[in-house]
Amino acid sequence: VKIGTPKEVFEGEARVAMTPDSARMLQKLGYDCAIETGAGVAAGFTDEAYANAGVEIFNTAAGLWKEADVVAKVRPPTDTEIKRLSDGKLLISFFWPAQNGELMEAAAKKGASVIAMDMVPRISRAQKMDALSSMANIAGYRAVIEAGNNFGRFFTGQITAAGKVPPAKVLVVGAGVAGLAAIGTSTSLGAITYAFDVRPEVAEQVESMGAEFVFLDFEEAAKDGAESGGYASVSSPEFTAAQLKKFREIAPDIDIVITTALIPNREAPELWTKDMVESMKPGSVIIDLAAEKGGNCKLTVMDQKIVTDNGVTIIGYTDFPSRMATQASTLYATNIRHMMTDLTPGKDGVVNHNMEDDVIRGATITHAKEVTFPPPPPKVK
Ligand code: NAD
Repeated sequence: VKIGTPKEVFEGEARVAMTPDSARMLQKLGYDCAIETGAGVAAGFTDEAYANAGVEIFNTAAGLWKEADVVAKVRPPTDTEIKRLSDGKLLISFFWPAQNGELMEAAAKKGASVIAMDMVPRISRAQKMDALSSMANIAGYRAVIEAGNNFGRFFTGQITAAGKVPPAKVLVVGAGVAGLAAIGTSTSLGAITYAFDVRPEVAEQVESMGAEFVFLDFEEAAKDGAESGGYASVSSPEFTAAQLKKFREIAPDIDIVITTALIPNREAPELWTKDMVESMKPGSVIIDLAAEKGGNCKLTVMDQKIVTDNGVTIIGYTDFPSRMATQASTLYATNIRHMMTDLTPGKDGVVNHNMEDDVIRGATITHAKEVTFPPPPPKVK
């Protein structure tokens, strides 16, 4: 059985779903590996590096799609790519099935199985396949680097012969996977780092990373940091009011804000308001990692960098993982390789699409000509 990775067609996408290293591991599972020529170039992997790893190189996307039994890629398939699917093929990629119903139907009609990497259940056993976390980790790190690149001062405080430099103050809103990565990066660069999340249980984790948790003067906080399955749910108006009051208080003193607050299947909550932006010092930077979902700051423009009248830079890029394509590809290709390990219990280069397996079942959105999304809830934690 042949696993093939085409060049990504989404404009500006630099990641690739197979690296020379992951190909070596896939070959150990008994698979032949192939890529479309140039598939890894933007991520720093040349055709030659793949060829040295025993990967077959195809000159065209059409050829690659035709010959590959399993196609591993990053972005959801385009209409053209869907047309290249056929009976019995397996596609593994990000898919966002809830938003891409028609595409999913089309794949099912073609008779192809689709595993959506964004649907891997977040249970312990599946962590090594959790591409959402891999990419969120990179986004959180890169958000801080991007902020630094747009900020005119040091992160760390210094006492130099030329004068005393105060440390930067960074606030991270939302301490999920991306937020925690941002907190770790910010503290390691020496900034005074504050963090807030509606889930009070993360306070300890935030503090263990050397940041300060922003507590609200709100009695119900513990209860209201309501969660379902580890995710946040919508806050009550009273809780939100207490949160915004606190943010308003600290905004004039914060140099860099990284917002990452999301609630599954909803628009991002507005947490950094226009008046807070207006109260910030010139030269301050906001990185809104929720830009794709409408932004935690309503002034954010998706995929753009803007500077407000009072000199605050607001960045709404949505392609942070692609901006670190080598690292992102390495981690994503490893997530895919672990998925293939699960799909290949016999290590014999043959896919066993076991729909009894919680992880495989959870991530499979089409199989045997049927749409299999949404999946039943996983049986194990
Ligand atoms: P996410 O991207 O959906 O949300 C980011 C963060 O924003 C969350 O921490 C959320 O609580 C927070 N948030 C939502 N509304 C907010 C508000 N109004 N103010 C401040 N913060 C707000 O989350 P994620 O990074 O995907 O992770 C969410 C959960 O899933 C965490 O509990 C995480 O530990 C868990 N998780 C588990 C696994 C696993 O077990 N394999 C893997 C990854 C994540």
